[in-house]
Order: sequence, then structure tokens, then C-alpha cells
Amino acid sequence: METVEAGHDDVIGWFEHVSENACKVQSETLRRILELNSGVEYLTKWLGTVDIEKMDDYTLETHFTSLVPIVSHADLDPYIQRIADGETSPLLTQEPITVLSLSSGTTEGRQKYVPFTRHSAQTTLQIFRLSAAYRSRFYPIREGGRILEFIYAGKEFKTQGGLTVGTATAHYYASEEFKTKQETTKSFTCSPQEVISGGDFGQCTYCHLLLGLHYSSQVEFVASAFSYTIVQAFSFFEEIWREICADIKEGNLSSRITLPKMRKTVLALIRPNPSLASHIEEICMELESNLGWFGLIPKLWPNAKFISSIMTGSMLPYLKKLRHYAGSLPLVSADYGSTESWIGVNVDPHLPPEDVTFAVIPTFSYFEFIPLYRRQNESDIGSDGDFVEEKPVPLSQVKLGQEYELVLTTFTGLYRYRLGDVVEVTGFHKGTPKLSFIYRRKLILTINIDKNTEKDLQRVVDKASQLLSRTTRAEVVDFTSQADVIARPGHYVIYWEIRGEAEDKALEECCREMDTAFVDYGYVVSRRMNSIGPLELRVVERGTFGKVAERCVGKCGGLNQFKTPRCTTNSVMLNILDDSTIKRFRSSAYN
Ligand code: AMP
Repeated sequence: METVEAGHDDVIGWFEHVSENACKVQSETLRRILELNSGVEYLTKWLGTVDIEKMDDYTLETHFTSLVPIVSHADLDPYIQRIADGETSPLLTQEPITVLSLSSGTTEGRQKYVPFTRHSAQTTLQIFRLSAAYRSRFYPIREGGRILEFIYAGKEFKTQGGLTVGTATAHYYASEEFKTKQETTKSFTCSPQEVISGGDFGQCTYCHLLLGLHYSSQVEFVASAFSYTIVQAFSFFEEIWREICADIKEGNLSSRITLPKMRKTVLALIRPNPSLASHIEEICMELESNLGWFGLIPKLWPNAKFISSIMTGSMLPYLKKLRHYAGSLPLVSADYGSTESWIGVNVDPHLPPEDVTFAVIPTFSYFEFIPLYRRQNESDIGSDGDFVEEKPVPLSQVKLGQEYELVLTTFTGLYRYRLGDVVEVTGFHKGTPKLSFIYRRKLILTINIDKNTEKDLQRVVDKASQLLSRTTRAEVVDFTSQADVIARPGHYVIYWEIRGEAEDKALEECCREMDTAFVDYGYVVSRRMNSIGPLELRVVERGTFGKVAERCVGKCGGLNQFKTPRCTTNSVMLNILDDSTIKRFRSSAYN
């Protein structure tokens, strides 16, 4: 039988080989994608019916990039909608698409669907195996051990045409590949499927923690997709640890777990264990009274070797708290990917999250890179808001130190698709670039897996201000927002300055309207599970935004160039806003 170690060597050997030959592998990947999907409506529209099999690699790449346009989701949306409505002729892929994933962000205020195929689950398995192999070089774990994994599948639903829709992670946790991953890496999640797919953040987290403690001596590492979840889970634990201890002592389950399937399955797994309960109680009392919960994870899970989750990008604000809970345990920042495609693997798991980069996996998709230059002045030609852009280049031509926006051509039928992420090439792993994640372009509001742009916020505020005008004699004069990541759970705060009279009841309705108008699936799921709290509307007194402008103009130059930032973390601005707040409302949506 194959041992885990031999498996690790195989998968690393494979990756070393493809990264050594990354440029050639990229050409082959493009060829495979185009051959597999030859004749689909979208490609025929742009490429005609030419026989690509006869073209050499160079001609094929030139042909493809000169004829197929660079697009964003909105351009492919009509095709994806037709698939969602049940059309079965080959539109984007030859392989029939029966499952759609919900990617972050929105298109014209609607949730963003992207095709999901077997290839998607296979690449997920492959990258998990690969990163497990690199991790084991630095932090080997015991075979047959457990992972305390804070994972949540979310619910799936059907489109009009009968296709299954859910997050890519939900599809993955339900797939054969997820089972295979546990078997091949010989590491098993503490929680059963009934907990993972429970759909209620509080109940799922409680059971994850309870089972994590039940199996505590076997837990080899702690993980989640994004580190926000781990921080949330342990601050929840600070409040409910006594309840969990009581459950462990008696082999019982708190009445807060009301989902019948979850209750039944968890109750079947636990037994009364008074000695474990008093051991945990002792540790928690010490943690609570003397240590401010510093080092909670290694104290309660003494065999844990590391903590793994995505800690880069919008997760950086949670690092401090994560380090507090982790004490001396290493933090291993997980890989870089998106619903559209996995992108890169962390080949240096020993590096602190701030320094982590991702080696591009050249077999997963065909990658192009739009060079970006930070805008010097307003009139820069070819500039798109924040950056000046140049013509996209293939992987073989990326330069060290240059920032790029990623463009993907995937096996799932996305062709020259702008992902919206800004990355910097910070090195090379053999022949493949290592990318450091800079940020998601145009993204302003994000707490967890939610991603909302300025345009989304504008649309949401427009909707609510229309409601305000319809129901009162007031109007919104100016607005801004903030993602409050310190509150628990984190939530969006929107500041309004209004002119005219509005009753509290009407403003409460506007607050609720905004909460429901954010349709990014990451937001909706997080709100439903209450891992993001109710949106808050703060009404500021008249003239507040004028004060903000004055303060900014003092620092940043002419008033005619001043634009109210639609989201801010600036403490001067937030102080002005908070000092001027006269009313606060919390949304009652999702109650
Ligand atoms: P989604 O499609 O909803 O899964 O979100 C994918 C997006 O999450 C990416 O396009 C990035 O903006 C962000 N993301 C994914 N992995 C990482 C990572 N390792 N570091 C920073 N941001 C990430």
C-alpha cells in the first residue's frame, strides 16, 4: 500500500517537473483547453472553425490572444445564464455542465455563477495534496490523526433549468474527492458531514469545537479556509467553554443545537468523559484568568503542529488575534485560488504569512498577466481608475517586481477572464512565477468570504435612498462605509448624511433594505450563518461630510479633486463620523 510519505514525494516530483517546464506546460494547457472545447459556441464565435491541431504552440497562442477578447464576468454571463436555464448545447464547454458555483462578487448586482466540473474538484484535491506534501517537509504529522477543521458547506439549490448551485467549497465537501483527500493524506476531519453542511454558523462551530475537544489528543493541526473563521470560533469558545465542558462531562449536547440531524450524529459520537472535562476546565480557567486566552490552541490541543488557513490579503487584519490564540504554534498560510480556478501553492510553508508567496501551477489554467502601473496623475492614458494597464503577457514573459492583474482561461469554459486580483511577481520556483497577493481590485467591503466593490455599495445605497425618498421627505446627501472587523461578529457600517425629516421607522427599513441588497454570495451566506453581523446604519448630523472634506483637503490638496471615499479605515475621518453620529440602526434582515 502507498504510504503518505511516498505519495508526498510523487506529488512534489510532479510539481517540480511542471514548474521546471512551466512555459511549455502553459502552451500545452492552452492547447488542451481549446481542443477539449473545440466547436463550443463561444469559441467558434471568436476563433471561427480553424483547425488548431495543425498549429504550432506559438501560432496557437498568438491566434488565441489576438482573436479572443479579454472579458469580465458580465461578458460571459449571458452564456452562463443560458446554461443555468437548462440549455444543453455546448456553449462554453463540450463537457455538459450540471453544477454551478457561486463566486465572490456580483455582476450588475446579481450573484455570480461560474461553471463547476469534475476538473474543479480534481484540481482541489491535487492542490490540497501538494500543499500537504510541502507542509510535511517542515511540520510532519502523524498518519491517521485528525484535523480540527472549521469548515462550512453552505446550502445548495437548483436553478430553473435544474442545475445544482452552491459554493465551490460546498461542492467539494460533498464530492468523492473530499473523501479521497482524507484517505490519501490519512488525516481525518473531526466533524462529520452532518456538522459541515449544517448551515448554521453558531451550531456548526459549537459542534466543531466540541468534537475537536472530544478528539483533542488526536488533533494534528487546526484549519479553516480563511483565518477569520478560526478567530471567530475561538472568541465564541471564550464565551461558551463551560457549556462545552458540561457536554463532555455528561456525553450530552447543549440545547443550542437544534438541527435534528446534527444532534443525532454528534450525540452518537460522544461519550461521558468527566476526566477530560475537568482537564479542559482547569486549562480554560487558567487561560481565562491569567493568560487572556493567549496560547489557547496549543494548551487545549497539545499535539497540534500548526495552524493552516488563508492568512494573506483581506485576512491580514486577523493575524494579530490568530497569533494570540496560536501562542508558539507556527501559522501556515494556505494556497491561493478562486472559484474560477486554483492559482498557486505555498511552497514555503515555514514563512510568516506576511511573506508568503504562491507558485503558479501551470497545468491548472492558462494564465495571462496584465501589467499594472500605479497611476501618477488623473490624465494618464489607458488608466482604469487605480492603475494604468498595458497589454497582457503570457507566463513566460512576467518580470520580477512587476504588478499584474490575473487573466484566466480555464478548463471550465472561461476564456481570457479577468479575475480582478492584483498580484506581484516576487520570485520564481524553478520556471514558474511566485506571486504575492496584493489585493482584489476595486474591492472595498470585505470581512470574511464576502467581497463587495464600490459599485455594489453604490447600488445598495441607491436602492435604500430611493426607499427613503418614497417613504419620507428626506434624501441622502452623502455616504461612506466601513467594514468593522473588530466587532464580533464583524459587520458593515454605512454612514449617511440626510437632508429633511425621516422617522426612525423609515430609517430602520432603509438599514434592512441595504443589508438584503448586498447579494454577493459570500455576504449572503455569512449573514445567514451570522458569521457577519447585521448591517449598521449610522446617521450623522448635517454638515459632517463637509467637515470630512475640509480635513482631507487640508492634507490632500484642492477641493475640486476631493471625492468622498466610499469606504474608509482612516482614523481621522472615522473620528469625525463617529463624533457626529446622531442615530444608529441595526438591520433586522436575516433574523
Ligand atoms: P472566491 O471566488 O469567492 O472563492 O474568492 C476568490 C478570491 O479570494 C480570490 O480571487 C482572491 O481575491 C481571494 N483569495 C483567495 N485565496 C487567497 C489567498 N491565499 N490570499 C489572499 N486572497 C486570496
